[in-house]
Amino acid sequence: MSQVPSKQSVAIVLKSGDKVSIKPDHPVKSPSDLAPGECLLKMICTGVCHTDLHAALGDWPVKPMSPLIGGHEGVGEIVAIGEHTNDSPVKVGQRVGVKWIADSCRDCEFCRKGLEQNCEKVKISGYTVDGTFSQYLVSYVHSVTVIPDELESYAAASILCAGVTVYRALKYSNTGAGDWVVLPGAGGGLGHLAVQYAKYMGRRVIAIDTGDDKHKLVKDLGADVWLDFKESKDIVADIKKATGGKGAHAAIVTTASSSGYTQAVDYLREGGSLMAVGLPGTAKLEASIFFTVFKSITIQGSYVGNRQDAVEAIDIAASGAVKCFYKKSTLSNIAQVYEDLSAGKIAGRIVLDVTK
Ligand SMILES: [Zn+2]
Ligand SMILES: [Zn+2]
Repeated sequence: MSQVPSKQSVAIVLKSGDKVSIKPDHPVKSPSDLAPGECLLKMICTGVCHTDLHAALGDWPVKPMSPLIGGHEGVGEIVAIGEHTNDSPVKVGQRVGVKWIADSCRDCEFCRKGLEQNCEKVKISGYTVDGTFSQYLVSYVHSVTVIPDELESYAAASILCAGVTVYRALKYSNTGAGDWVVLPGAGGGLGHLAVQYAKYMGRRVIAIDTGDDKHKLVKDLGADVWLDFKESKDIVADIKKATGGKGAHAAIVTTASSSGYTQAVDYLREGGSLMAVGLPGTAKLEASIFFTVFKSITIQGSYVGNRQDAVEAIDIAASGAVKCFYKKSTLSNIAQVYEDLSAGKIAGRIVLDVTK
């Protein structure tokens, strides 16, 4: 353990709304100071997510810690485990992932029901505890996700947030093989993963997005039907037409705009499921109560995923069935990445090398 340094570089937001900056002399928790159940990770890489922008700005109804080390989709190697840790499912030397839910108590009502995301004592990476924009990170042996050897670290990073999120929404969408699933924003960071998970699960996919590049991308990934929202005169009618007049079985809505939700109630068939996945700070969900009831529509919020969802999402990616399209950058370049993200300049995901 002598190779663990006492200082590291982290990306830090000193107070909500401040610019992110690199702090080169942030302390590393000494392995001998780790509490039982804690592990120290030497980080390899971390994805950057839109949520990290909300965390830096502090513009959500639930406030983040301050100062803040963000990041919640990272991969690292375990270099130490706290003394007196009982029954650790992981060991030193293993490569593991850190996701949004850093740790949960596993004993409260919500944990017992499999809703670890809603744990009464939940720890959230890069929000209520230090996140993955760091070179060394304290995490938790019972909550890290083992990364199989077949899956390289950069490919795994964004599966831990975007992948888990869309995988769980599909899993709980009350659909079966052959059912039609609508994916608005199918060519985006969450969407392109959703297309692949949906196809892996045997669903038929209606991909909605715009532009030739995204059209080609989602078709290559196996989408059955493409709808360009700038060219379509009537999305609802087009979806009905593609599904034999009946409408889709489910919609996975990741957008921040209210209209994405309103529309879904119109294009879903009777008994359909609207899965709400995006986390806009203030937008309201507006849907016809009459048709929600009359068509027996289920509207369900799906919030990231629990440990089991993460294992499943990672295992599917490790099988080669799901690939995240990402660009590499470095931790030292994070301020620029934040600017590009907020300007909407980034297509797909960005994964940072934390050693540079
Ligand atoms: Zn995220
Ligand atoms: Zn709990």
